[in-house]
Amino acid sequence: LRIARTIAELALDYSQRIGFVPTMGAFHEGHLVLMREAKAHNDVVVASLFVNPTQFAGGEDFDTYPRDESRDFGLAESVGVDVMFAPGVDEIYPRNTTTVVPRGAAIKWEGERRPGHFEGVATVVLKLFNIVRPNTAYFGLKDFQQCAVLRQMVADLNIPVHLEFLETVREADGLAMSSRNVYLSAEERKVAPLLYRELESVGDAARRGDSIEEALAFSCERLVAAGFRIDYLEVVDANSLEPTRRFSAPARVVGAVWLGRTRLIDNLAV
Ligand code: AMP
Repeated sequence: LRIARTIAELALDYSQRIGFVPTMGAFHEGHLVLMREAKAHNDVVVASLFVNPTQFAGGEDFDTYPRDESRDFGLAESVGVDVMFAPGVDEIYPRNTTTVVPRGAAIKWEGERRPGHFEGVATVVLKLFNIVRPNTAYFGLKDFQQCAVLRQMVADLNIPVHLEFLETVREADGLAMSSRNVYLSAEERKVAPLLYRELESVGDAARRGDSIEEALAFSCERLVAAGFRIDYLEVVDANSLEPTRRFSAPARVVGAVWLGRTRLIDNLAV
């Protein structure tokens, strides 16, 4: 594994097919699946490890976000990542920067609750695309709205990159893997998979043609009874992220909940 701390050190060979996996580190199987997929379909795999300050809203966990570079480098090497781009904040943001303001898919849900989040994501991802110039970039559907925002950014700004989105990797009990799961207490960890089960229950109801409103209300009740605070739980059009009750087009159940001080997000195809 070659580690590049600066853009100059990257020095990639553009005669090769480059697969790219942007991350914020604290690797788990969800990250490694993206890297293995990139390895299988490209000549060179570049991953980035950058805890991007601009995508954390005020009061969020930028300072306490889990960081363990040497462990991450070992894991990345074990799945065949060739180059790890791990820049400091000044390398990416040498000055108060120009930004990308995503609209459409970025407006609701996470966009409403985390002001500036998708602007930070879109800006850093576009910068990383221009720095790495990958043929294909790999993202996880765990962050479903992020995928929709990036798909729209690439289309709207005519960015010459191919995007691949991979399904969410889960723990055995259904909890979506996340770097933030380490924040859960032992008790919270035990009830956390209920979010996934309730997304399944709403998805099942939608597929059966039952009332979505009722399914959402029952799921919210059960989550609240188990100690969750609901941020949102909805069935949305998979592209526009607008709430939908029609399933002729692809739809997704999306949810965000608080368990104590930890915010969990997850989603499932309907
Ligand atoms: P992060 O380091 O959390 O910014 O995530 C880096 C990439 O890994 C993003 O494309 C995420 O969507 C993806 N990712 C995070 N968790 C999972 C998961 N459980 N399954 C699949 N992909 C994931």
